[in-house]
Amino acid sequence: MQEDLFKRLVSHCKEYGFIYPSSELYDGLGGIYDYGPMGAELKNNIKEYWWKAIVQMHENIVGLDSAIFMHPKIWKASGHVDAFNDPLIDNKDSKKRYRADQLIEGEIDKLEAKINKEVEKARGRFENFDEAMFRSTNARVVEWANRADEIAKRLANAMRANDMADLKALIEELQIADPESGSRNWTEVRQFNLMFSTQLSNVAGEEGKLYLRPETAQGIFVNFLNVQKTTRQKVPFGIAQIGKAFRNEIVARQFIFRMREFEQMEMQFFVRPGTEMEWYEYWKAKRMAWHKAVSPAEKLRFKDHDNLAHYANAAVDVQFDFPFGFKELEGVHSRTDFDLGSHQALSGRKIQYFDPELNESYIPYVVETSVGVDRMFLAVLSNALVDETVPDAQGEDSTRTVLRIAPALAPVKCAVLPIVRNKEELVEKARNVFDRLKLNFPCQYDEKDAIGRRYRRQDAVGTPFCITIDFETMDNDTVTIRERDSMQQERVPVSKVVEIVREKTDMVRLLEGLG
Ligand code: ATP
Repeated sequence: MQEDLFKRLVSHCKEYGFIYPSSELYDGLGGIYDYGPMGAELKNNIKEYWWKAIVQMHENIVGLDSAIFMHPKIWKASGHVDAFNDPLIDNKDSKKRYRADQLIEGEIDKLEAKINKEVEKARGRFENFDEAMFRSTNARVVEWANRADEIAKRLANAMRANDMADLKALIEELQIADPESGSRNWTEVRQFNLMFSTQLSNVAGEEGKLYLRPETAQGIFVNFLNVQKTTRQKVPFGIAQIGKAFRNEIVARQFIFRMREFEQMEMQFFVRPGTEMEWYEYWKAKRMAWHKAVSPAEKLRFKDHDNLAHYANAAVDVQFDFPFGFKELEGVHSRTDFDLGSHQALSGRKIQYFDPELNESYIPYVVETSVGVDRMFLAVLSNALVDETVPDAQGEDSTRTVLRIAPALAPVKCAVLPIVRNKEELVEKARNVFDRLKLNFPCQYDEKDAIGRRYRRQDAVGTPFCITIDFETMDNDTVTIRERDSMQQERVPVSKVVEIVREKTDMVRLLEGLG
C-alpha cells in the first residue's frame, strides 16, 4: 500500500512537472534529479518558508551565501577528508554495491516489522489490549526485541571504532544475502569517502585538488569572524544559508530522499560554552514547530542518535513518516567548538569572540539545525497526495487526485478559467482578471477542455483556488471561487478576489504560529 503510494508519487511528480530524472535522454544519472516548472515553484516556497522563519523572524540570525568551492584544507580541518566515509561492500556474484551498515540495519528493520505484526495480531485478539505489557512479556516479542537491540549496539560500536572486519563478521553471522540476487558471496568491507573532487586548472597534483562541498556548514564556520565583525552581532547569534551540497552516496535509491546532488538549509547558532544544551533544547522545539505547521504531528518524531559524529556532544534527528517509513528529515546537532577550534588550529588564525559581558574571549560553541530541501519537498508531497472519490459526481468526474499542500507552499495560488472559450467578451474579461492576479501571485490561465477537467488539472498540482468567469460575471462583475479541498464554490465580487486569495495563501499564515 505504502509502496504503491511511493510509486504513484514518483510518477505524479513526472507527469505534472514536479521532478524529472536527470539526463533522461541518455537513460538518466543515478541519484540526480531535475525540478520541473511546478517543482521549481514548490522548492522556492519551501526555501522561502525556512528563510523567513529563521532569518527574517530572528533579529540575531543573519544570512550568508558562500561559494561551493573552498580551500581544500577546510575539509581536512572539518574531518571530512579523513572521516567522511561510509562502509562499502560488494557482492561478488551480482556485482552490486551496498552500504554494509544499511544491510545490517535492514535486519533490525525486519525484526521490528515482525514485532509490529505480532503486536497488531494480538491487538485484534484481545479486548482492552495493553500494548506495553504485551511487548514486555510476550516471549517471542521479547526475544526479537533483544536481538534487534544487540545488533544495533554491535553496529554502533563497530561504526564508532571504524571496525570494518566486525561489520563483515556481523553480515556473515546474520547470514545477510544480497537483496537482489540472494547471494552471500561478499567482499571485505572497506571505507569509501563520499566527497566528489575536481582539479584546479593552474595548480598540478594533490595541491590543486578541490572538493565539491558535502555540507554548507563549513562555509558558515570559515566566515564566522567576517560576519560577526560586519554585523556586530553578539553571542548568542546565528548564521544561516541555503545551498547545494554533493555526496557520492554509495546507494542512491528512494528518489529524492538520497541524492548525490542536493540542497541544504543550515543554520549554525553560536553560543557561550556551557549554555549549548539549553540552546539545543530550544532549537529542537523550534524546528519541530516549523515542521508541524505544514505536516501532521503523527508523521513527525524525534530520534536520538545512537552513534554520535566525531564533532557532536548531542544529536537528534527529526524523522518524518515517508512512504518507506520513519526516516531522517532534519538533524539538530550540538557541535561543541569542534569546527571553529579545528579551523583555528589548522589556519593558525585566532577565531575567538570577545564577550563584553564576561570580559573574556572564547571559541563559541555551536548548535546546528540542518534540513534537506529535497527531503522536505518529499515530505510535503508524500503527505499531500490523495486519490479520492467525489460525492455526487459521475463518470470521469467521480474520482480526483488532489495535492493538499499548505496553500502558502502551493506552486500556483490560483487559476483563472473562463467557463467557455468561444465568447469573446468572456475571454477578455477572464484575461483582465488574470492580468490583475498575476501581479500578486503565481497563477495560471486555462481555457482548454471542459471546466471539470480544468479543475482536476489544478487539483493535481495543488492549486488552492480556481476562479471561474461565467455569464453572470458579465452582468454583475462577480466570479465563482472554488476552494481545492472542500470543492465549495462561492460567488464573490471581482474586486475582492486578490484579497481572498492573499488572505489564505500568504506565508504569514504559517509564520504567525511560530512566534
Ligand atoms: P543520512 O544519515 O540520511 O545519510 P546524514 O545524517 O548524513 O543523513 P546530515 O549530514 O545531518 O545527514 O545532513 C543534514 C540533512 O541534509 C539531512 O537531514 C537531510 O535532510 C539532508 N541530506 C543529507 N544527505 C542527503 C542526500 N544524500 N540527499 C538528500 N538530502 C540529504
